[in-house]
Amino acid sequence: MKTTARVVVIGGGVVGCSVLYHLTKLGWSDVVLVERSELTSGSTWHAAGGFHTLNGDTNMAALQGYTIRLYKELEEITGMSCGLHHVGGITLADNQDRMDMLLAERAKHRYMGLETEIVGPEEIKKIAPVTNIDGIIGALYDPLDGHLDPSGTTHAYAKAARMGGATIETQCMVQETNQRADGTWDVVTDKGTIHAEHIVNAGGLWAREVGAMAGVYLPLHPMEHQYLVTDEVPLIKDMMADGIEHPHVMDPSGESYLRQEGMGLCIGFYEQPCRPWAVDGTPWSFGHELLPDDFDKIEASIEFAYKRFPDLARSGVKSVIHGPFTFAPDGNPLVGPVPGMRNYWSACGVMAGFSQGGGVGLMLAQWMIEGETERDTFAMDVARFGDWISPGFTRPKVIENYQKRFSVAYPNEELPAARPVRQTPMFETFDQMGAVWGFQYGLEVPNYFAQGDEPRFETPSFRRSNAWEATAREVKTVRENVGINEVHNFGKYRVTGRRARAWLDEIMAGRIPQPGRVSLTPMLSHKGRLIGDFTVSCLSPNDFQVTASYGAQAFHMRWFEQNAMHGVRVENISDSLSGFQIAGPNAKAVLQNASRDDINSMKFMDVRQITVGRVNCTVQRLSYTGDLGYEIYCNVLDQRSLWDALSEAGKPLNMQPFGMRAMMSLRMDRFFGSWMREFSPDYTPCETGMDRFIAWNKTADFIGREAAEAEKQRGADRLLCSFEVDADDTDVNAYEPIWVKGEVVGFCTSGGYSHHLQKSLAFGFVPVGLICDGLEVEIEILGQMRRAHLITSSGFDEDRERLRG
Ligand SMILES: Cc1cc2nc3c(=O)[nH]c(=O)nc-3n(C[C@H](O)[C@H](O)[C@H](O)COP(=O)(O)OP(=O)(O)OC[C@H]3O[C@@H](n4cnc5c(N)ncnc54)[C@H](O)[C@@H]3O)c2cc1C
Repeated sequence: MKTTARVVVIGGGVVGCSVLYHLTKLGWSDVVLVERSELTSGSTWHAAGGFHTLNGDTNMAALQGYTIRLYKELEEITGMSCGLHHVGGITLADNQDRMDMLLAERAKHRYMGLETEIVGPEEIKKIAPVTNIDGIIGALYDPLDGHLDPSGTTHAYAKAARMGGATIETQCMVQETNQRADGTWDVVTDKGTIHAEHIVNAGGLWAREVGAMAGVYLPLHPMEHQYLVTDEVPLIKDMMADGIEHPHVMDPSGESYLRQEGMGLCIGFYEQPCRPWAVDGTPWSFGHELLPDDFDKIEASIEFAYKRFPDLARSGVKSVIHGPFTFAPDGNPLVGPVPGMRNYWSACGVMAGFSQGGGVGLMLAQWMIEGETERDTFAMDVARFGDWISPGFTRPKVIENYQKRFSVAYPNEELPAARPVRQTPMFETFDQMGAVWGFQYGLEVPNYFAQGDEPRFETPSFRRSNAWEATAREVKTVRENVGINEVHNFGKYRVTGRRARAWLDEIMAGRIPQPGRVSLTPMLSHKGRLIGDFTVSCLSPNDFQVTASYGAQAFHMRWFEQNAMHGVRVENISDSLSGFQIAGPNAKAVLQNASRDDINSMKFMDVRQITVGRVNCTVQRLSYTGDLGYEIYCNVLDQRSLWDALSEAGKPLNMQPFGMRAMMSLRMDRFFGSWMREFSPDYTPCETGMDRFIAWNKTADFIGREAAEAEKQRGADRLLCSFEVDADDTDVNAYEPIWVKGEVVGFCTSGGYSHHLQKSLAFGFVPVGLICDGLEVEIEILGQMRRAHLITSSGFDEDRERLRG
């Protein structure tokens, strides 16, 4: 056995083998995979082998498309068969919400180059004759759907990796992973130790145990899952006689997926009475085993399936496969460099290894070899969960995810399991004031405040929800008077030390402000992509406060640590620094009422130490609402006292709280972009207009400079534009296609209703060559073409009087 390697991949399931193959494909051949038994010995061998592109996250869907297309390549390279059956698949809809979701998916697929199609009941019957179409209103047909041989495919990945120089050690159990002082790893196995620069945890069912060897907690949990294979089905036999294979049928209402298996059918269920498996850890003794059949669990699902697919009821059950596989709390994989660790990579929590394994392997190999991925991977980044996550959160969330696997996923939906986890000191007060809560990176955040007999629950919907009135009310409060909300859900960092400015100048592309001032700056990756959208405040020459998205804390801290500089201390103070923002024309009066300090002389983008009531605060004059506003930061222990002071000062002016729904409506009036919507690693500064914040003339060689300068010279091919949309009951959410003269030319990043301007607005990318004054486009929202036109100003506070006010 080799004793040194550049990379040791732990785990020979489909994911580990895909990672190994992609590492060799991208040029690293000194790589070893270590498998405790034979390849496929975890979840992989008993998978149903189905694959599909449908995924609520657009980048995940694109990676699923990549995975599916890869199988032909693998077969060509290795001469091995993956047992591919590209039979196509349909996802049924038996209600309008489900249909809306499919229409939104279909719309996204247009610019992703996926040839899906919406089909009606009669066509469904023709394509998938086992389906009883009673009550079905339509379906999404995807010709790429199909199934394969899980074992053959895994072995094909392994062979392709070996052909690229990789080594595979089977019957070799990793017992310890010990890090040396230089960041390299000793991977201790029962056959000896391999000294490696990097390790990849692809331990699948045992990923938790493998992680624990290095002190890493990976938020995933195995769930039991069951599918049945029937005896021969006459209809299938007849179709086969005509050389036709039956396509896959996903029936979300029945929580089932069905496909042909031999001359029979195979049907699996995501049943509601589901069960987590191996709650206290996956036993090392678990081998090539199945769990005992459990028909009780799936009784209701089977009953439903017999109605939807009557042929099932007429044929006997030939075999039952009941096995475990792992899920992360949101069902997406856990991939990338584990925050807080050096050279430790995660490739776990992959619940659909045959739809996602190729994409996971490609992204991880790019990350390891090239330093970053070609597209935004946040939806599967292991850093999307922070250190607040625990097994107590993961388990119920995984159960919820399993149960909702086939549920309609609404853009405004708040999922209840395992909440609340974290609350600010304002929770009780806001709750009593009617807060309708949202969840952000573990934290309860008010979405809006219900009044009177308004329900305390926002109806999940693709259309305008019952939060409409409350949001309108809160927007009006801010634009006409003054509103207050917490600043707790900002990611906050303190950067101190004699080289703090030098470090910020290198890590941020924008201008770093002088003491007492605030600036906005993008943070770029080496390839010039947007990896942050920051506000930097200079408190004193060697002391800076830096804020960005709350949900990106682990993502940003990982980058800060990877680019650490001697003489600089970077602390994540997101949860120790709290406070409020007040915004609206009367914001200054409220702050002045609460403080004896001179507020009047504070200019836009100033930052000062101010005593508000009894609390020493850092106050900066700016607001994401685009209005006159102040962000008032204090120690979290002072937050209640600060609230008392501000709410008392706001009483004469009838100051009211506002939530995130209003905030997102307000920010649009000034065309402010939002992290992971307009600004993400998929986009660049020139494309998004963030180039205006780049300090091209500063001397520092900031990260991403070369790429950003090259793009500036070349010019962007597409630009982020704003549109006014002719919408009625539904607005742009994200990723709707933008059409010009019958052709898809771009897509939306976000949108919504501006309650202040009483307009439906959208933001999206359009090729530069098409952009002109008043450009007329159509935006496809839930299958309907909505007229829209490009606008360069929303008409709100054009002379910036309110900001300066
Ligand atoms: C009943 C069922 C049906 C399914 N159907 C589908 C489907 O139709 N389509 C689909 O895409 N997915 C399906 N899945 C899910 C799919 O099986 C998984 O997504 C996939 O197998 C995960 O692969 P993996 O490589 O991450 O993990 P695993 O397959 O669990 O592999 C992990 C490997 O790591 C090895 N290992 C662990 N610890 C160590 C150690 N210390 N030292 C050395 N080696 C170690 C294990 O032996 C194992 O071989 C199904 C799952 C089940 C249970």
